[in-house]
Amino acid sequence: MEAPSVSDRLLARKANRYFERLGPRAQVALCQLPLTLVVAALVLAAPSFWPGLLDSPGFVAGLVLHAVLFLSCFLVPWERLRPSACLVIPALDLLAIWLSRNGAGQTLPGLAVLAIFPVIWLSASGMAARTSLILSFVGPLLITLPTLLGTLPEATASDVTSVLLLPLTMLAVSFSIRFASVNVRLQQRRLEKKDAELRELLRESRDRERLLQTILDTTDVGIIAVDSGGQRLLTNNRQMLFQQAAAAGCLSSESEEAQQPLFSQDRQTPLPLEKRPIHRAVEGESYGDYLVWFGEGAEQRAISTSARPMTDDAGEFRGAVIVYNDVTGLVEALSAREQLVANVSHEFRTPLNSILGSLDLVLEESQGMPPLALQRLGVAQRNAERLLDLVSDVLVSASAVLSLSPRQSDLAGLIENSVGSARVQADQANISLVADVQSPLWAHADPLRIAQVLDNLVSNAIKYSPGGGVVTVRAHGADDWVYLQVEDTGMGISDDDSRRIFSRFFRAGAARRAAIPGAGLGLSITKSIVERHGGAISCVSRPGSGSTFTVKLPAVPELATALT
Ligand code: ADP
Repeated sequence: MEAPSVSDRLLARKANRYFERLGPRAQVALCQLPLTLVVAALVLAAPSFWPGLLDSPGFVAGLVLHAVLFLSCFLVPWERLRPSACLVIPALDLLAIWLSRNGAGQTLPGLAVLAIFPVIWLSASGMAARTSLILSFVGPLLITLPTLLGTLPEATASDVTSVLLLPLTMLAVSFSIRFASVNVRLQQRRLEKKDAELRELLRESRDRERLLQTILDTTDVGIIAVDSGGQRLLTNNRQMLFQQAAAAGCLSSESEEAQQPLFSQDRQTPLPLEKRPIHRAVEGESYGDYLVWFGEGAEQRAISTSARPMTDDAGEFRGAVIVYNDVTGLVEALSAREQLVANVSHEFRTPLNSILGSLDLVLEESQGMPPLALQRLGVAQRNAERLLDLVSDVLVSASAVLSLSPRQSDLAGLIENSVGSARVQADQANISLVADVQSPLWAHADPLRIAQVLDNLVSNAIKYSPGGGVVTVRAHGADDWVYLQVEDTGMGISDDDSRRIFSRFFRAGAARRAAIPGAGLGLSITKSIVERHGGAISCVSRPGSGSTFTVKLPAVPELATALT
């Protein structure tokens, strides 16, 4: 069977709702009304069409019972009785029809058909199926039976058929109504189930929304969600408060990103539109820890931003979520620490230079000095030099901005110098130092800084090959880059350690166990020098077999500027 359309269902629901809103008396009266109206019409028509009808006592008794039943619909307190109590009305209707039909005799034999009204009521009432079927058959049968009894004993097959036709028809009607109402009830149950499921879904989604909102409002990072066109979908409380405070009330919390006071690393240059966090996110970029400065003057805050794109089921870009984390305290603490380290290191250099100068003078005029005193002065000089190197490293490492003057430089010459200076250290460590470089090899680099990189990598290669071995320095050019490699056959670095060797003050476990001196600063300085050139550094190593450090540097200025 075809399911009712949505508008049909809505209409049926509306009618149900009106019916339920009526009181029980009006409901019963409404069920009885159609029959009462037909009977009233008959009464009105009787004088004109069937003049003797109103003289029949049986017919009049039937009318009186009809009238009584209609009145009792209003007078009986149905609301206080069981709901099924009102079914007495259709049952008695059958009696009233019996009286009218048999009172009217042959004048109006068709009156029996009025039984259809109580039969429909009984069948649709929800009373026990068997009872309603029996009543629907027996009631009409009793109404038509007197006609048959009147024809006895000469009753023909046609008489029997015409008497049985009505009860059988009523039985069929009752069946149809039962089936239809069962079907309606099943559909209703299905609808109610769906309705309950929808309500449950709605409740769950409201709960989820509340949970999400609470999380958004309790988290101490600002969150903004935008659609693919950059329109705000959501701004959490933290972000609204922050924007209002940082913009010192001159902008609304929902103001366009282009109007916001966002500045780059130097805290003064306004951030160009294409570098602004929301703009980058809307372009589909995914980034993390992107530091920008928000606001001006004393209210200026350092904000670390991160963004992730949102995609739909088909993988289409639908917008992005941008997270703002106020890291002003952290940035200020870091810069204070770096300032302190820089100041302290600087203060160390002056007395150290003076110690070294005095030692030089003493050693120059060392003739006649006892050999032991000379040896001890030599130890003092070496350690003072090491201390000076260390202080220089700490200074470079602490300075936020590494000064760089890149120009066309011959890398082959720099390698030659570096290998030459390391030769003594290599000989002492029983290491053969090999250079394999095509000359000249041009790179766009600061020669002083790259010499520092080379010295660091070569001296590390020698230092971390305690059992002797081979250290090879190679370099070659490819496309617009030059590649520089320092390979050793030394102690190597474990996988875990090799991930951290470029961090400041990190020293691998093997180096510490072997008590090889060092401060863990050389590689971090090396890395920042290389990256400031627009290049990269990597390390491949196997514990016990040696390590290879590869530095990639730009050969042409265009690459260097593109990447720095
Ligand atoms: P330092 O050598 O002063 O400790 P670096 O920053 O130069 O500091 O190196 C960091 C760490 O990386 C070293 O302590 C060492 O454990 C490891 N390392 C660096 N170069 C090598 C190498 N060629 N072979 C093995 N380990 C190395």
